[in-house]
Amino acid sequence: MMNPKTTCPQQTTIREVTTDVSTQARHEPSQAGRQPSLLAAYDGIVCDLDGVVYRGAAGIGDAIEALNTVLTEQDPQLVFATNNASRSAQVVADQLISLGLPVTAAQVATSAQAGAAYLRRELGVGARVLAVGGEGVAVALTQQNLHAVRPSELAPPDTVVGVLQGWGWEVSLRDLAAACGAIADGAVWVATNTDLTLPVEGGFIPGNGTLVGAVATASGTEPIVVGKPHAPLYEHAAEVLGIPAARALAIGDRLDTDIAGAAAAGMDSVWVLTGVHGFRELARSSTVPTVALASLSGLHHPRIDVCRAGDTWRAGPVDITLQDDSTVVVSRARSGADPLLWANAVAAVGLAVVLSLRGDGADSSDAVAGGDSELTTIAAAFDSALQEAQAPREQ
Ligand SMILES: [Mg+2]
Repeated sequence: MMNPKTTCPQQTTIREVTTDVSTQARHEPSQAGRQPSLLAAYDGIVCDLDGVVYRGAAGIGDAIEALNTVLTEQDPQLVFATNNASRSAQVVADQLISLGLPVTAAQVATSAQAGAAYLRRELGVGARVLAVGGEGVAVALTQQNLHAVRPSELAPPDTVVGVLQGWGWEVSLRDLAAACGAIADGAVWVATNTDLTLPVEGGFIPGNGTLVGAVATASGTEPIVVGKPHAPLYEHAAEVLGIPAARALAIGDRLDTDIAGAAAAGMDSVWVLTGVHGFRELARSSTVPTVALASLSGLHHPRIDVCRAGDTWRAGPVDITLQDDSTVVVSRARSGADPLLWANAVAAVGLAVVLSLRGDGADSSDAVAGGDSELTTIAAAFDSALQEAQAPREQ
């Protein structure tokens, strides 16, 4: 796993760099050109969807552009991985195509597929498995050459040897009762994921984890969970890519599922700040993303190294100073920087600083002094700084 450098080289102080703006601006492109891109270190990408590729129905422009380049060049290979088990891979692929991404269903890995693959390994081809959830659950079981049995089709004396439970609008109490019965009779129970809620416009609704909780309480049994933050979905995605998990880079917006799941599977991770989690959540989390990006355009640029000189942190085109009153001051160290590069530099420093405050920095002797309240305050200041950096900038 890559770690940020946290101490600037002695001979290069912040003052020397900031006072040499014109020289640095001229040298920057050639220096960047010699370095490999962030992606060059990996053989495959496993990419989350909501909050990374799109928000609601709208695609995230620079993410679509960056991923389009990866898909067109087929370097590295890319698979989209989602905890959502209700939609089939084809339905997900069709949505991505409508957003301008040239993908096939074979480039989508769902938690239903990961669950079906697990059950086939455990139970063998042709095993009868109860499909609880949306259409995606039954489709995934059939694709793994298992016999998908819908709850409405299950009538004594017929039995099943497995249960695959995922989310779906149509899931009923009768479906949950059928799952309880099968589990009581010894069926292997796999849950696609245990997300307690699902975000919807104007609020949230019970997610698969809530329904799994009902079955667990009633049956006194716990399921095998394949979705994020557990490793099997990422391992399944690596299998689809045909590479070891350690050679893949996971991209996601949620720390508790995407980034934690990547760590569980032994993958490096890009935490992209276009979704639900920001630095405040990072401050409360125990996960350690490998890289933070404000925009996926950063995939095609060299990784932005962060170094520190006193209270100033330096990353690519920006210097960031932490003042005594816990405010964050971002200054442009070089002219002409791409606004997306600027925002990615702020994200890189935010990650380094918050990890350092948490005591998870690359070098614990670098830890910024301060307690929990200072951590929260500084994390919030980085959220604001990033928001400002992501807004259109004037030269
Ligand atoms: Mg997401």
